[in-house]
Amino acid sequence: MNAPLTPALLTTCVFGAALLLNVAVKLWLASRQIRAVARHRGAVPAEFARAIPLETHQRAADYTVARLRFGLLELALGAAVLLGWTLLGGLDALNGALLDALGPRPLLQPLALLVAFALINGLIDLPVSAWQTFVIEQRFGFNRMSARLWWADLLKSVALGVLIGVPLAAGALWLMQATGRAWWLWTWGAWMAFSLLMLVLYPTLIAPLFNKFEPLDDAVLRERVAALMARCGFTAKGLFVMDGSRRSAHANAYFTGFGAAKRVVFFDTLLAQLTPPEVEAVLAHELGHFRHRHIVQRIVLLFALSFAGLALLGWLAGQGWFYAGLGVTPNLPASMGGAVPNHALALLLFTGVVPVFMFFVSPLAATLSRRHEFQADAYAARQASAQELSNALVKLYKDNASTLTPDPLYVRFYYSHPPASERMAQLGARVSPA
Ligand SMILES: [Zn+2]
Repeated sequence: MNAPLTPALLTTCVFGAALLLNVAVKLWLASRQIRAVARHRGAVPAEFARAIPLETHQRAADYTVARLRFGLLELALGAAVLLGWTLLGGLDALNGALLDALGPRPLLQPLALLVAFALINGLIDLPVSAWQTFVIEQRFGFNRMSARLWWADLLKSVALGVLIGVPLAAGALWLMQATGRAWWLWTWGAWMAFSLLMLVLYPTLIAPLFNKFEPLDDAVLRERVAALMARCGFTAKGLFVMDGSRRSAHANAYFTGFGAAKRVVFFDTLLAQLTPPEVEAVLAHELGHFRHRHIVQRIVLLFALSFAGLALLGWLAGQGWFYAGLGVTPNLPASMGGAVPNHALALLLFTGVVPVFMFFVSPLAATLSRRHEFQADAYAARQASAQELSNALVKLYKDNASTLTPDPLYVRFYYSHPPASERMAQLGARVSPA
């Protein structure tokens, strides 16, 4: 039998091949990384030998390998779920069941489809996330979460999803149906407006639902930080300490908000590990991201990419082969000429399938991000101290059990930050004993 190559069949083939290649490349990269880490497990790299004990180095290697192995399971599960939704007919069945139950109601049925899809995916992810926290992070001593806190977080996230996500999805579906052919442009505008709003609201309204933020009360550190910010020409609304230790021993610091609403947030775990001059150097690095306009660049890039993405979706949603090729019968009622886009279906297919292709350009994004990190490091070296930043980085690598010996190709694909040895080399700092 010789099936003619219809656009739908071609879509199936291209998607299938891309998914296969995607999984194969990820598998290959992960196994390279596992081998690179295992190969160097026996000895601390020479330049770090004075700062990092062998035992710490080996723990980092074991942690890295454990996470990579688990990542392989997640990769297989993710690919199976995506295949299940698309070519194996899961989305089609769900859509059909909701059509039977609710009828072809223009807003309610697609909204129910989005919600049901999110719920099912959320249920599939639950055991994965629990295993990550209570088995892997736990085994290496990073987890600080009780089961109670984990469930509380989950309930809060679901509540936020219902309060914010459902009205947002309903609004988007309404826009898609009400604004005619240019719906994708309207949807893009609304989505971007929402993203900007969240940038302002997240730090002040949503983050406090999950963590406590208290003003930094360490006078010595506050003075240092204030002097640094004045030197760099920044004003922030406040310096806050976040109780990151409630959930994890991993440490971090970040700078959020816009204009006068800017705030600096230190994890309490970071303050516990670093000396004030080291904290100052880490903050100078964060300020470097602002000074070089990395945040704005990232937002502009996101705007441009989502514009292109929605334009593409706007076109695909009207093509029958797009649905059929991905295992879905679009509900195109004959009374509507059979050419009405199925927005919810199109949206779900699109958000499932696009990342499979986008993975192949991830080295570009990672390269850009690593370049930004180098620029921020250089800024920190000028405004604070290269030596203090280097000391802080070594401590963070050590405490977060990050590997010092990654595979170079793995780095190209995945690393948003340059590996430790490259950052140290660029800072030109000595690695001093801890
Ligand atoms: Zn950075």
